[in-house]
Amino acid sequence: MIGADVPVPVKGGGHVPYANLDYAASAPCLEAAHEAVARALPYYSSVHRGAGYASQVTTRAYEEARDAVRSFLGAWRRSAVVFTRNTTDAMNLLAHAVPRGTSVVVFETEHHASLLPWRRAVRLPAPATPAEAISAADRALRESPIGSRLLVVTAASNVTGELWPVEELAKVAHRNGARIAVDAAQLVPHRPLDMTALGLDYVAFSGHKLYAPFGTGVLAGRADWLRAAEPYLKGGGASASVGRTTRWAASAEQRHEAGSPNVLGAIALAAACATLSGSWDAVRAREESLLGRLRAGLAELPSVRELTLWGDRAPRVGIVSFIVDGWNASDVALTLSEEYGVGVRDGRFCAHPLVRHLLDGDGRGDRAGCSAGGRDTAVRASLGIGTSEEHVDRLLAALAGLTGR
Ligand code: PLP
Repeated sequence: MIGADVPVPVKGGGHVPYANLDYAASAPCLEAAHEAVARALPYYSSVHRGAGYASQVTTRAYEEARDAVRSFLGAWRRSAVVFTRNTTDAMNLLAHAVPRGTSVVVFETEHHASLLPWRRAVRLPAPATPAEAISAADRALRESPIGSRLLVVTAASNVTGELWPVEELAKVAHRNGARIAVDAAQLVPHRPLDMTALGLDYVAFSGHKLYAPFGTGVLAGRADWLRAAEPYLKGGGASASVGRTTRWAASAEQRHEAGSPNVLGAIALAAACATLSGSWDAVRAREESLLGRLRAGLAELPSVRELTLWGDRAPRVGIVSFIVDGWNASDVALTLSEEYGVGVRDGRFCAHPLVRHLLDGDGRGDRAGCSAGGRDTAVRASLGIGTSEEHVDRLLAALAGLTGR
């Protein structure tokens, strides 16, 4: 892993190895991703349109990266895999491609990337249990007007880490003649995902959370809506022939990847996918042990409260948000960084309605104001494959120090 334990300055002079507990924002790059880019660079050339040898090599590498992502997601052989910039871009592409008049149902607990792109959507309130999520989705879809329908849901919350029942939600969607689009940005760095087995119609995720560099994301799924939609961006590559009228490319990928793509990003992402695919058991076992250690330690600090939608025992990935009595979240995060070399995130994590809902139960919500650093914010610690016990222990010791315990 590149940059793990890099030295960072702390107050009072000197440096300590960085304790990166901010993987949910962006994960450091894997050596394998870096090496794949280094291997590709000598043949760095245009894709799809060049006849030269280097172009052929680069085109092959780019299309192989697409195939690698398809198999990483367990996507059906004929499903589309469109490279985007990130999850936000992927969800906006899907919102652009849904047929006019589609009834979209979304939980208001979503990350803004999945909550906001829809022209009109029915927003469901935060469900009190996973079973309530399923029944609320069922009801909303059943009551949607006749026509195409889409349910949008996250697989793992970027605030609480909790896993959503996407397999059951897919069944509910299909029973109601709807499709399901899953925001897997926080799931795929932690757990394998099999779109075909789970019955998911669309999946979106970001490379920079999956140990690859910034700038590459994916929308994978059924090709028909994508093939029928106007190109997301118009230009070279998206067009099959241009004269008085323009005929757009027939394949979903070509149609929605106008312009020169981020080839190196796709190659790096494919390498990260391959590395994770080969090590899920180890990744999961290690993360569960570290997450247990972190949550047990937080539970011992009386002035720290973990935020959870569905309770302590709900299955989750290695993401924990919490508040510290008497402390503003941004002060906690800054102190952890400046005095202990611990990197966490504070704020509302681009999921304002969810964080407000979680804090309202605590009487700390601030319905009137949404300012970052205000009362309605929390601290988030998130784990990844470079996290060590020492990182977790340093965070816990620092919080004990802050809260005088
Ligand atoms: N969805 C979830 C669940 C996320 O956690 C994030 C990023 O934090 C996004 C979507 C948006 O990802 P990106 O900023 O890479 O588009």
